[in-house]
Amino acid sequence: MTVRLRVAPSPTGDPHVGTAYMSLFNLAFVRQQGGQFVLRIEDTDRARFQADSEQQVFDMLAWLGLQWDEGPDKGGPYAPYRQSERLDTYTPYVEQLLAQGNAYHCWCTPARLQQMREDQQARKVPTGYDRLCVGKTREQRAELPGCSDVPVVRMLVPDDAPLSFVDLIRGQVNAPRPDDQVILKADGFPTYHLAVVVDDHLMGITHVVRGEEWISSTPKHVLLYDWLGWERPAFAHMPLLRNVDKSKISKRKNPAARLTWFVEQGYLPEALLNFLGLLGYSLPSGEEIFSFAEMSASFDWTRVNTVGPVFDLDKLGWLNGHYLRALAPEDLQARLIPFLRAAGLYDDSAAHRSLLAGAGPLIQTRMAVLSECVDLLRFLFVTDREFVVQDAAREKSLGDAGPVLLALAEALAPLEEWTTASVQTAMDAALIDRLGLKRGKAYAPVRAAVCGSLISPPLPESMALLGQQRVLARLRAAL
Ligand code: GLU
Repeated sequence: MTVRLRVAPSPTGDPHVGTAYMSLFNLAFVRQQGGQFVLRIEDTDRARFQADSEQQVFDMLAWLGLQWDEGPDKGGPYAPYRQSERLDTYTPYVEQLLAQGNAYHCWCTPARLQQMREDQQARKVPTGYDRLCVGKTREQRAELPGCSDVPVVRMLVPDDAPLSFVDLIRGQVNAPRPDDQVILKADGFPTYHLAVVVDDHLMGITHVVRGEEWISSTPKHVLLYDWLGWERPAFAHMPLLRNVDKSKISKRKNPAARLTWFVEQGYLPEALLNFLGLLGYSLPSGEEIFSFAEMSASFDWTRVNTVGPVFDLDKLGWLNGHYLRALAPEDLQARLIPFLRAAGLYDDSAAHRSLLAGAGPLIQTRMAVLSECVDLLRFLFVTDREFVVQDAAREKSLGDAGPVLLALAEALAPLEEWTTASVQTAMDAALIDRLGLKRGKAYAPVRAAVCGSLISPPLPESMALLGQQRVLARLRAAL
């Protein structure tokens, strides 16, 4: 059997980190088994739909290297892969379920349903649809209050509905009895529950891998499979990602719930993938640093941990540092360019390219995330007119620095060779040997004057890159 798995995000704004998490685990299994991975866009919730969200999903999954085999942009044998383009597909199944007596029309208005829920809460009985419409024609129902013109269609959940199922990760799972779920809305759109079952079946999905929050929906889906006479897929419910305080990660409360945040900050996709993999998976060897290929090769559902994995950004920072240090020089430069460019510092001229080639190795071990390159390298790429010494650096390091800067300018001006070694030698001779300063004390005002800040890449290397004229000009300006 060829395994076919899918991820089915809803385009409701910035893609959620959970979409990447689900895709990673789906794909680890798919690639191990030589199967296919489908990207389906579940856009039936028109109230929450956002037009540019779908493209962001494509971009973010591609950035992470999580490639799908079939999808709205790629096509495939089961197209279309957008639910809004499949509305006709669902209608015959609604008709079938109505004809079989597994579903019924419900005309209750939202106001009546609200009132019903409030009454149930007041009486302290379980809330749920009270089946006022069951067995009634439109005319019979219209005699009662709270009747709308356009009905929805609900599942008629039997008393003996199957409530337990086998989960690949969790084993036997027992879920609560579902309410009479709406499957077709008044706007003619199916709800998630109907669309997901119909599409998973028609698209030949063999394994449904999704978040833990869907466990309580699975009995509804199992019922639909059974009613429609379809074979049930295997189910696996991944643990929910949690904040350090154990609350569920939400885009409203945690910027790290948005995938675009990781790009903006300058995390490496390989580090984020490794991090997401570690949130619920471990290699048999216990090694924490692993690639997608290693994860996929060893993948086993029973190794997935269901204890709510904590989204610990310190751990991600550690992984990011590891992958950053491992980048080849050209690769590092290519990844820094978008950040420098966005800050208006980089124009891809030959001069800039050569500066960046020199600067990359100086900051490779000093950054936790790529975006830090902007502050670290501003002094190098900024035009002379735009160069400023930051207030903090001026106040802390330049107050009584006149003699230091003067001595250094005198020592550097006559240098005929301008290299890290010659700068370092002249600087040490002037400031440490002659003025008798300690290195830390001697370098701080120089760093402020030349780099404009309290933190910089190593100083002699930075000055060598910046060039003799610019260094002397900045020393004099500071004086
Ligand atoms: N559209 C659902 C979501 O956004 C998909 C759930 C599933 O995988 O069945 O989470």
